[in-house]
Amino acid sequence: MPPASHESRAASLTLASRGEVRHDWTVEEIEALFALPFNDLLFHAQQVHRAHFDPNAVQVSTLLSIKTGACPEDCKYCPQSGHYNTGLGKEKLLEVEKVVEQARAARKAGASRFCMGAAWKSPREKDLDVVLEMVRRVKALGLETCMTLGMVDTDQAGRLAEAGLDYYNHNLDTSPEYYGEIITTRTYADRLETLGNVREAGMKVCSGGILGMGEAPRDRAALLQQLARLEPHPESVPINMLVKVPGTPLEDVEDLDPIEFIRAIAVARILMPASHVRLSAGREQMNESTQALAFLAGANSIFYGDQLLTTSNPQAEQDRALFAKLGLHPEVVEKSARETCTDDARQQAELEAALVRRSAAALDARATELAYDAAQA
Ligand code: SF4
Repeated sequence: MPPASHESRAASLTLASRGEVRHDWTVEEIEALFALPFNDLLFHAQQVHRAHFDPNAVQVSTLLSIKTGACPEDCKYCPQSGHYNTGLGKEKLLEVEKVVEQARAARKAGASRFCMGAAWKSPREKDLDVVLEMVRRVKALGLETCMTLGMVDTDQAGRLAEAGLDYYNHNLDTSPEYYGEIITTRTYADRLETLGNVREAGMKVCSGGILGMGEAPRDRAALLQQLARLEPHPESVPINMLVKVPGTPLEDVEDLDPIEFIRAIAVARILMPASHVRLSAGREQMNESTQALAFLAGANSIFYGDQLLTTSNPQAEQDRALFAKLGLHPEVVEKSARETCTDDARQQAELEAALVRRSAAALDARATELAYDAAQA
């Protein structure tokens, strides 16, 4: 990591403490943020975070793969690419009813946003009609909707927006300079074009990247610069830690130090003060302390998982326990999304309230335990 001069540190700190929304960050300025002493970086990220968000609220999304495997793209990190043999089965596009069923389960588990992903280069016409119906039906449950379907042109983006799609996910993945090492079947410009089409259609943008793919520290700074250059900033910025899947070309890449990952979360928070920064793929491999640091650094969104969620789902249970331990609560879905609900919105509100109560009860129990321990000491 390059040393930052005293002046550039001071300048970065001033900017950070103001929480100013900028689109003109240079890579050098971003590198200077990365180079700050860890405590300073986290302190400033937390200041920026508090200026824009409830610091203890975390937005909860659920991800469902609506069409798995056999993707024609060659993303070197992805088990769904048809270019690599990872033993992952191929699945056809799910039926609308199945998707709606899973969305209901996700809502019941406390999710406020339902993300649907298909392993396509771009959606085909006949598939798009099915996908549009999914958007309408999931939206009718009172959930925010998000889709990731590969590249979309202006017409496709417009139709998705008309159907009520709130967010479109399309990640930049890495820096423009390192991109060719990771994907050869489409260009960085293609990615930016899709993001432009999504924005033009009036949808919110979800775009981030993956760290730990063998990139240099400068690539991490350059990726965040590209995201921060988007005007407006993406509303949602997933920061993923590579999950090394056997059979993919990145299966043996060197691990990224978790502290570097936390630094990237903090820098993303400072660069994009009003965006939800999502602690995304790779979270299952992180211990509780790393996740807690990520929340402190400004992450305020998570995925519950990519499978049907029930109350006995171990991942969801662990997440609830961690929320209780940290005094976090799920962010309540925005009023505008609720207002569109035609299918039992009250149940959603009650479930969210129950999650909050559960977190509070667990905190009370811990406080009692601590008081008891102190009395014994
Ligand atoms: S486009 Fe998406 S699904 Fe296809 S290989 Fe790349 S990351 Fe995987």
